Amino acid sequence: MSCLFCRIVDGEVPATVVHETKTTLAFRDIHPKAPVHVLVIPREHVPNAVDLSGEQLGDLFAAAKEIAEAEGVSETGYRLLFNTGPDSGQEVFHAHLHVLGGRKL
Ligand code: IMP
Repeated sequence: MSCLFCRIVDGEVPATVVHETKTTLAFRDIHPKAPVHVLVIPREHVPNAVDLSGEQLGDLFAAAKEIAEAEGVSETGYRLLFNTGPDSGQEVFHAHLHVLGGRKL
């Protein structure tokens, strides 16, 4: 299997997992751009965020909210971000929601 994030879901590639549900997995970004930088992904392989179903999007956002609370950035605020497609800078083609916080962005 060539998809890096599928390999993380399958436990073949190590990751610092901070949250998981039946449909989502969240782990720390390997090159954090902020003190809190977590990637929330669907367990199912969907290359691009715009192809996620409404239910999948809901699951990712619900997970992100719980992660922000657990990481202590709910009150100060945080950024939720999807890169979609090559011009956006998307590097990994398994949809992922960035949760960034812990400093003024
Ligand atoms: P993108 O630019 O939106 O596709 O974001 C991909 C993110 O994945 C980048 O912020 C990378 O630092 C991060 N990343 C790449 N490989 C790994 C890894 O093995 N573990 C955790 N994060 C990774």
